[in-house]
Amino acid sequence: MNAPNAPAGLIGLVCATAAGRRARDRLAAAWPGAVRVYGTGGEGGTDGADGAGTVREAITRAFAECDRLVCFLATGATVRLIAPLLADKADDPGVVCVDEAQQYAVALLGGHAGGANDLAHAVAEALPGCRPVVTTATDATGVPGLDTLGLPVEGSVAAVSRAMLDGEPVRLVRHHVLPLPALPPNVTEATDNATESNDGDDGEGAAGEYTLLVSDRAVAPGDRTAVLRPPTLAVGVGASRGAPAEEVAALVGQALADAGLSPLSVTELATVEAKAGEEGIVETARRLGVPLRTYPADELAAVPVPHPSDAPLAAVGTPSVAEAAALLACGEGAELVVPKRKSAPEGRAAMATCAVARRRPRGRLAVVGLGPGARDLLTPRARDELRRASVVVGLDQYVDQIRDLLRPGTRVLESGLGAEEERARTAVAEARAGRAVALIGSGDAGVYAMASPALAEASADIDVVGVPGVTAALAAAALLGAPLGHDHVSISLSDLHTPWEVIERRVRAAAESDLVVTFYNPRSRGRDWQLPKALALLAEHRAPHTPAGVVRNASRPGERTTVTTLGELDPAAVDMMTVVTVGNTATRAVAGRMVTPRGYRWQESR
Ligand code: SAH
Repeated sequence: MNAPNAPAGLIGLVCATAAGRRARDRLAAAWPGAVRVYGTGGEGGTDGADGAGTVREAITRAFAECDRLVCFLATGATVRLIAPLLADKADDPGVVCVDEAQQYAVALLGGHAGGANDLAHAVAEALPGCRPVVTTATDATGVPGLDTLGLPVEGSVAAVSRAMLDGEPVRLVRHHVLPLPALPPNVTEATDNATESNDGDDGEGAAGEYTLLVSDRAVAPGDRTAVLRPPTLAVGVGASRGAPAEEVAALVGQALADAGLSPLSVTELATVEAKAGEEGIVETARRLGVPLRTYPADELAAVPVPHPSDAPLAAVGTPSVAEAAALLACGEGAELVVPKRKSAPEGRAAMATCAVARRRPRGRLAVVGLGPGARDLLTPRARDELRRASVVVGLDQYVDQIRDLLRPGTRVLESGLGAEEERARTAVAEARAGRAVALIGSGDAGVYAMASPALAEASADIDVVGVPGVTAALAAAALLGAPLGHDHVSISLSDLHTPWEVIERRVRAAAESDLVVTFYNPRSRGRDWQLPKALALLAEHRAPHTPAGVVRNASRPGERTTVTTLGELDPAAVDMMTVVTVGNTATRAVAGRMVTPRGYRWQESR
């Protein structure tokens, strides 16, 4: 298995010089098991190192054997060497070139389909000081590539992508709600709401305009239409023992065709557990290119279906396999779009049944922590979610933190301090309308932030994804030293939503139990007595020389870190941009840093 940080697939590493070999060895060490070394001087290389042969031979072999290539060669040399090997965009491996000084990882060939853009980023991450160079238009401009959305796409993908990039009008026709990322402003939707009913719009624009169609229906796109296939359908199948794959596959294919549905929108084949090894079913899933999902008979028996029957009840213990499995696979709110039908082999009894269900569309709510402020403390996952969203909801000052990362066309719903409930409701409503929403917050969006009010509003009909962020307490701790080395607690001193009695009880409990304490929302113009009071409560159980830290604007412009003591901490230096961390009775100041011992024996005995 590949190392978790390694790109997927087999990666061929090709080099010709000593400098190239050093970079190559670094990658090979970073991605154990994922790479194969080709080319001269492969001494000590992993499997496949040949140590001989020309670079041309090496690259030719790597091109044939690997999913992607990293060539430690000049782009010019690489172009000449791979030119005679090029076949087509769908099959050629992605190729990345790295220069002698390891400054740049250039995605040379197969940016999207070949995975070279992603590989260039991964290489740059593994080689210190190296930067990815990506020239594919959609990546460079922030317009999402239609082939990068993780959905099957067919039709005139290149023409429609080009039109999107060139600012030509593109019509968006959605037969299904689908949480798409932001599309540029020249892509406009005829109606605001996606239509589930067949409105007869097959995506062919009246005046031959460019059209992006989102549909699971079997349409034949013209030369100006690209079709995104949403993952809406599941096919349920039942089969008697020994049912031939031809019979099962033909039945499924015919059922989809008769209903006017695209096989590219089918996400799984579903059946009863007892049929998990039934060859005809397994092979049909393989031909469709989808996983086979199986359910216990009693789960299937509990699904209400229009056409129960005695035969499967006797054979496998449920009155329905095909219909029940299709409905189960599609989850709550599923709709049966093709009721059970039987195969029709010539000259003998039918051995297979199938049914097709469609899932209720689901919007997506990502609750995204942006970290304390610095861009490099924003996680890559948070960045991806921001670029996946078509709607971003958040406090204006947090939106400012990441505005430049949003795709052009992203709808930003920002509001000022206070409007929490409204923000939460808006985010949920947008997701329920089927959109891809990112609800953002500084630090971690679940810590004194928007995740709770939003999820208190959210219903089960949307997908919710949380992306953790570096909290203010953690960012401050890193600046102060190691104050959180043993049990610790965060307490907000804001009594806007919490009665002071409750806050005080918690501070007392923390004091008595000798927990390291980080105070959030410690002091504002109108709330100035709470911090001194809280410090006095801690002082009842901790000596005045207990180390305490004050961190203002951690990782933001104007960052200020002060290590002081509980006795000397000046509340006037504290405001709402600040956290205050007070050590426990074991915390020491060492070389100007706060250190809370872990308190294990190995340390005591030193
Ligand atoms: N969700 C945030 C906390 C929001 S509450 C998190 O996980 O960190 C707002 C309070 O957090 C502020 O009053 C301040 O006490 C603290 N805070 C947020 N960012 C900070 C930063 N960069 N430096 C210091 N304190 C910060």
